[in-house]
Amino acid sequence: MINLAIIGGGPAGLAAGLYATRGGVKNVVLFESGILGGQITGSSEIENYPGVATLMDGNSFMQPWIEQSMRFGLKQERTSIKRVSKNEDGAFTLLDESGKTYLAKAVIVCTGSKPRRAGFKGEDEFFGRGVSTCATCDGFFYKNKEIAVIGGGDTAVEEAIYLSHIVSKVYLIHRREGFRAAPTTLEKAKNNPKIEFVLNAKIDEVYGDKMGVTGVRVKFKDNSTREIDVPGVFTFVGLDVRNNVIKDENDKPICGITESGQIGVNLKMETSLKGLFAAGDIRADAPKQVVSAAGDGATAALSAMSYLESLE
Ligand code: FAD
Ligand code: NAP
Repeated sequence: MINLAIIGGGPAGLAAGLYATRGGVKNVVLFESGILGGQITGSSEIENYPGVATLMDGNSFMQPWIEQSMRFGLKQERTSIKRVSKNEDGAFTLLDESGKTYLAKAVIVCTGSKPRRAGFKGEDEFFGRGVSTCATCDGFFYKNKEIAVIGGGDTAVEEAIYLSHIVSKVYLIHRREGFRAAPTTLEKAKNNPKIEFVLNAKIDEVYGDKMGVTGVRVKFKDNSTREIDVPGVFTFVGLDVRNNVIKDENDKPICGITESGQIGVNLKMETSLKGLFAAGDIRADAPKQVVSAAGDGATAALSAMSYLESLE
């Protein structure tokens, strides 16, 4: 029997694993099917993690986290968890993608979020052939070419700035004039001569040929349109929470969730189901920052430790 199962190896899961194992809990297993480090590993730059003043990309930033969290006995299972259910004896069953099951006394859900699809014509057809959600992964393919970036949040504006160092021009297309991005980031983008703002504009269609994307047609609020010739379109239009693991066979959540699917927690990261905790971007009202995800992970681990003690 696993004492503590942690689902998801982003900042929240790694911090939870570190705190639980360093706090003396034996047999703590972290389930992660993708790259350890979570979604920040796809970021080109992180500059707001307190105490880390050196600018670096998300992947380099997360490397010491992985080493440190494994130092005290955290084990990793490289698999994706499909579903968590609570048994009559109070323990949890975790079912993975291959049908294998694991028993755990307590569970912390740290499954985070994934890039949202914008929903324009051609998005699915050209995904991976000119449409991308990862600037660090795909930016280099467009060296000295023009590209489009869609969105007005921190991710879109930051990644537009990053891409401007590689490509010849960035069209930053946003559906209104106001931005969600931090004012300082926006200011940097506005002062960047390689970024052209295309505002009050929605993507009508991304089109192309057998080779991939060749252009994008945008529609403005006054119904006028503009065609922009670009071989690459990067969409950064927000995130969807990954909450499948807490849904039963009938798609019913096993604990309280919000309208947008985030897991409800109290200040101890306890969900409405005893022994089940949630941390990071997946939990309700998450600030969606690495620092808060890590803080949540530590809090959830400490709460899970108290819960495990209460079982003895
Ligand atoms: P995530 O990082 O999303 O990690 C969740 C992990 O769970 C993933 O590794 C996933 O593979 C795994 N997982 C999901 N489902 C399952 C399953 N069923 N079974 C097993 N594993 C599963 N924040 C900042 O503070 N500063 C920044 O500069 C910054 N820049 C960003 C730039 C970009 C491009 C993006 C996308 C985000 C950025 N953020 C930034 C936000 C930050 O990355 C997130 O807030 C943070 O990563 C959330 O951590 P998390 O552990 O909750 O979730
Ligand atoms: P976000 O803040 O939700 O912004 C999404 C943007 O996409 C918004 O501007 C939105 O427009 C636009 N949009 C949404 N759906 C669209 C559609 N279908 N078509 C066109 N545009 C669409 O998402 P994010 O930028 O990915 O950020 C997610 C979270 O991570 C935020 O909390 C953010 O602060 C955090 N983050 C932080 C940092 C950092 O601290 N440096 C970096 C990256 C991300 P509207 O504005 O009109 O709604």
